[in-house]
Amino acid sequence: MADTVIPLADLRYTAAVPQIPSQPQAPTGLLADRLGRPLRDLRISVTDRCNFRCSYCMPKEVFDNQYKFLPQSSLLSFEEITRTARLFAAHGVVKLRLTGGEPLLRKHIEILIAQLAALRTPDGQPLDITLTTNGSLLERKAQSLRDAGLQRVTVSLDALDDATFRRMNDVDFPVADVLRGIEAALRVGLAPVKVNMVVKRGTNDEQIVPLARHVREHFGPNVVLRFIEYMDVGATNGWRMDEVLPSAQVQQRLHAAFPLLQMEASATGETAQRWRYADGGGEVGFISSVTQAFCSDCNRARLSTEGKLFLCLFASRGHDLRALLRGGCSDAQIAGSIGLIWSDREDRYSELRSGSGPAGAGAERRVEMHYIGG
Ligand code: SAM
Repeated sequence: MADTVIPLADLRYTAAVPQIPSQPQAPTGLLADRLGRPLRDLRISVTDRCNFRCSYCMPKEVFDNQYKFLPQSSLLSFEEITRTARLFAAHGVVKLRLTGGEPLLRKHIEILIAQLAALRTPDGQPLDITLTTNGSLLERKAQSLRDAGLQRVTVSLDALDDATFRRMNDVDFPVADVLRGIEAALRVGLAPVKVNMVVKRGTNDEQIVPLARHVREHFGPNVVLRFIEYMDVGATNGWRMDEVLPSAQVQQRLHAAFPLLQMEASATGETAQRWRYADGGGEVGFISSVTQAFCSDCNRARLSTEGKLFLCLFASRGHDLRALLRGGCSDAQIAGSIGLIWSDREDRYSELRSGSGPAGAGAERRVEMHYIGG
């Protein structure tokens, strides 16, 4: 049998140095892009490394021990991240999500969280600070994260069955440790905990009902399970449409086991369609980026591990904010640049993708999710 070769173009460094406006306007918090979308949510990737090798995200064949992760000197420092987040807050960002890679692998992440927790919106409110993790280190770190000022946590968990889970993380990591991490998060008050399950047809779709049952019975309404459609992010996961199980089908299967009722979306830009169990057993969500694009109210920006700003999860190119941070620019200049970048934004990859396959909306290779942040 012929080997499958997955080409990997290193697009980590493809980023233009942003323009600095000659007379920067002070941020008003009212920034809107070309499609009228405000800027509210900043996702910050704090490391491109992960201790899992989920095939849909960081397949082992590509991310092996020869793979060159970013050197420490390339990473934004905590001070650089905090400064950038402060400027985004001035532009209207109210929510920060730390991600990666696996964010809990970044040393002393609690120090960053404490710095971010001290930031305020223009009207004096603290920002909503959350973190997405594979849960492997959560049991150990939950208390210190909470003490540092983290408010909530999202845990990725693709199966309840141990063998399926070990196969999917591809490093033989046991599911019991992640479940203990979720318990620890609840215990210290990082609630509600969101649990994200990426559903791949033929790989873990048999786990939809068992995982939902476990969450209902063991954790209750403080844990919100969300089903994510397997997405064509990056260029290494060999994505195929026939491995996507549309949310509508996930929902049907769940509804047959536990009747569901639809809820109102809680906030503009919300990624998940929210449903609740008819018997009062809590809430579930469906994130349907493939079959029901939600670009029209996307208010998220992404800051990569080395300080490139991306305007869409499926973007090919970023904007090199680190060049400004390390190039002696003032806060006013950097904020002005962010304003220009966002005002010019017109990305809506998922809407454009419909019908044309994963490469249809752009010929360029997209950046990898572990680098840009999920
Ligand atoms: N390591 C952390 C974790 O596991 O949650 C944070 C980074 S991870 C890239 C963030 C989220 O992206 C996870 O929930 C992961 O399952 C999801 N993800 C990665 N690749 C995906 C894909 N191809 N389709 C859908 N979700 C994906």
